[in-house]
Amino acid sequence: MSSEQVIQTKMNSSVQVAITPQSCLAIKAGDLASTHIIQVAKDYRTLRKASGWAITFSQNENKSACETLLTISVGEAVGAGRNIVISSMSLAEGLHVRLEVNNDAQDTEDFLKQHSASFVESVVSDLSAELAILQSAYQIAQYDKRYLVSQMMLKLSSHIFEEGVIDRFLSELVEELNVFMSNPITSMSVIKWDLKDNTFEMPAVLEEGKMSLGYDKFPISVLNGRPISRVIETGLPLLMTKSESHEALKKVNIHRSESAATYILPMDLGEHSGALSISSNCSEAFNGLDLACLQSAGEALSTIYRQNMLQSKTYQQANFDAVTGLANRAHFNRFLGNLNLDDEKYAGVLYIDLDKFKEVNDLYGHDVGDLYLKAVSGRIAGQLRDHDLPARIGGDEFAVVLDELQLPTDAERVAARILRSLELPLEIDGVEHNAGVSIGVCVFDNVVDVSLALKRADKAMYEAKTAGRGQFKVYSEGK
Ligand code: GH3
Ligand code: MG
Repeated sequence: MSSEQVIQTKMNSSVQVAITPQSCLAIKAGDLASTHIIQVAKDYRTLRKASGWAITFSQNENKSACETLLTISVGEAVGAGRNIVISSMSLAEGLHVRLEVNNDAQDTEDFLKQHSASFVESVVSDLSAELAILQSAYQIAQYDKRYLVSQMMLKLSSHIFEEGVIDRFLSELVEELNVFMSNPITSMSVIKWDLKDNTFEMPAVLEEGKMSLGYDKFPISVLNGRPISRVIETGLPLLMTKSESHEALKKVNIHRSESAATYILPMDLGEHSGALSISSNCSEAFNGLDLACLQSAGEALSTIYRQNMLQSKTYQQANFDAVTGLANRAHFNRFLGNLNLDDEKYAGVLYIDLDKFKEVNDLYGHDVGDLYLKAVSGRIAGQLRDHDLPARIGGDEFAVVLDELQLPTDAERVAARILRSLELPLEIDGVEHNAGVSIGVCVFDNVVDVSLALKRADKAMYEAKTAGRGQFKVYSEGK
C-alpha cells in the first residue's frame, strides 16, 4: 500500500464531520496538512528512516471522548514493542497532537524527544490555519447534531404529555437518537432524587430493549460507591469508558456480563434533581459527536419533564381539592354533565354534609378540622367503585357520582355503606372522633341535568338533617 493510500483511508475514517460546506473545506484542509506533514518529515532523520510512523490530531475535550480529527500514518503500522510515543502534547484551543514512530534509526531517547518536539512544533505552526478549519468543522458538526436532535425531541415531546406513556417515550427516544449516534445506545434510565428526605427513584429504565417503570422510593445510601453517587454529590456530568465503568461497578460488587461506555447527565427537573444515564456496549467510549447528541437530548428531556410537571400541577390545582385530594366542584360538575347513561342503567348522586362539624373546629382547631375532613373523605372514597367519583364541593360538603347502577336502590346501598363506614371512630392526633354525616340520594335513568341533580340531592340531604342527622334520605317528586 502506498503512503498516499494510507493517508486517504485514515483521513476518511478519522475526519468525522457532517456533510456541510465546511466539511468539504475540512477535507481539503486535511489533504493539505497530510501533504505538508509528509514533506516536513523528510527533514527529520528518525522519521525518514522509520518503517512506520503516525501523527494524530484530536479534540482534547475529554480523555474518554477524544475525537480524532486527522490521523496520518506512513509506512507500516507502528509495530508493537518498537513503537515509542515520542510526543504527546496539548496545544491551544484543546487540540491534542500525538506522534508515534518506529525507531528504526536507533536514535537515543534524548534525540528522539528533542527532534520530535521540534517536528510537531513546526508542523503545528505551519498548519495552524488548516488545523483551525478542521476544528471548526468538527464544532459545526457538533452543532448540527445538537440541532437535529433538538428537532427530533420536539417531535417526540408530545408523547410524554400523554399520561402513562413514559415507557413508549423512552423506547422511542433511544430508537430515534440511535439514528444520530455512532455508538448506539444500549440502555437508558431516568433517575430522580430528593436530598431533603434522602431518597431516589428510577421512574424509567430501558435495558436490553425492555422497559421497566418504577415509582418506589429507595434510600439514597443504596447508591453509595456507584458512579451515579458522584453525579448526585457534584451535580456534574460523568463520562466513563467501558473499562472505567467496569472497574467502578466491580468495586461495588456489581458484575455485569457486559460493561458499557456510560454518560450520566444531570437534569434539572424543577422541584427535583435528576439524571439521565446512557450506556453503550458497542464501543469503548462515546465520542464527542455522540456526546453532543446526548447533551441536546438531555437538555430537551429536562425541559419536557419540567413542562409536564407544571402541566400536571396546574391540572391538579384546577380539578382537585387541596385538603382531601378529592375532585373539586368544577371537576364534579363536568364529570356529571358528561355522563353517558347506558339503556337500562341508572346514575346516582349523593350529597353528603358532615354533622356538627363546627364543633370539631371549635373544640380542636382548624388544622384538626382539616384532618377530620381528609379522614372522612377517605372513608367515603373507600366505599366506591373505580368509575364512581367522590368530590368535595364545599366546606364540609361532599358529593358522589355513582355511575352505571343496575337498580335505583343500589344508590341507597352505597349511602348505607358510607354511614356504616363511619361507625368506627376516626383517630386524629391520638384523639378519637365519632363522625356523622347526613346524606341525600337522588337517582336518574336518563340525561342528567347537573344543577337539578345537585338541587334534588341537597334537598334530600336537608331532610336527613331535619330527621335527626346520621342517616340518608332519598329524593322523591312532590315532597
Ligand atoms: P350541621 O350538622 O348542621 O351540618 O352542622 P355543622 O356544624 O356541620 O355546620 P355547617 O355544615 O353549616 O358548617 C360547616 C363548617 O365547616 C363551617 C366552617 O367553619 C367549616 N369549614 C368549612 N370549610 C372548612 C375547611 O376547609 N376546613 C375546616 N377545618 N373547616 C371548614
Ligand atoms: Mg355540616
